[in-house]
Amino acid sequence: MGSLVGDPSEPWSVVVMALQFAADRHRHQRRKDAAASPYINHPIALVHLLYQEAGVSDPVVLASALLHDTVEDTDTSLAELETHFGAEIAKVVAQVTDDKSLPKAVRKQQQVAHASSLCDRAKLIKLADKTANLRDLVASPPVGWSVARCQDYCHWAKQVVDQLRGTHPTLEAHFDQVYEAAIAQMAD
Ligand code: NDP
Ligand code: ZN
Repeated sequence: MGSLVGDPSEPWSVVVMALQFAADRHRHQRRKDAAASPYINHPIALVHLLYQEAGVSDPVVLASALLHDTVEDTDTSLAELETHFGAEIAKVVAQVTDDKSLPKAVRKQQQVAHASSLCDRAKLIKLADKTANLRDLVASPPVGWSVARCQDYCHWAKQVVDQLRGTHPTLEAHFDQVYEAAIAQMAD
């Protein structure tokens, strides 16, 4: 990565720095779709949804959305995020990061159990993450997933989102829209 130059207390700067950092950390990763899309498309999709479609302009939320999978899926620590982006962004990313030492089924259950106690910023990112992933599932599902597995995923995502109701009506409406489309498509 080129040097991460910028002032993380300046709104535009922190978002651009987060994009640069996330693009670098995810540079060797691909999504699970047939085209093996670049992973960074997913954090960018969250920012598109949050900012362009839902009007969320808080730079801490947008930067945290760009960084939301760096700790869970790359060799990035929360301490590193705190150094570059400050304590608040590190805290928000920590709240949306699964504990990978736990079995997957436990992690999934914990997401449902913990969703309602997240801070408001983390709730916005959770809503956007689940919506973006269902959009991907509808448009370009992971290779090898059966219809039953896609349905399981949709139902689990809705369980998480149902714990986040009342956070942001527009984002919730976007989730409900893609959830209905996904269920209808899978029933065909
Ligand atoms: P995973 O958590 O392994 O995979 C889903 C995650 O992959 C998403 O949350 C997303 O995470 C990422 N992702 C990458 N590419 C895509 C894409 N194109 N579309 C959507 N998501 C993408 O899924 P699970 O193991 O949780 O499987 C879903 C359900 O299926 C579970 O409820 C489980 O019970 C069941 N299951 C069924 C199996 C079977 O039938 N053989 C086997 C295992 C589970 P991110 O935002 O982090 O990128
Ligand atoms: Zn994600």
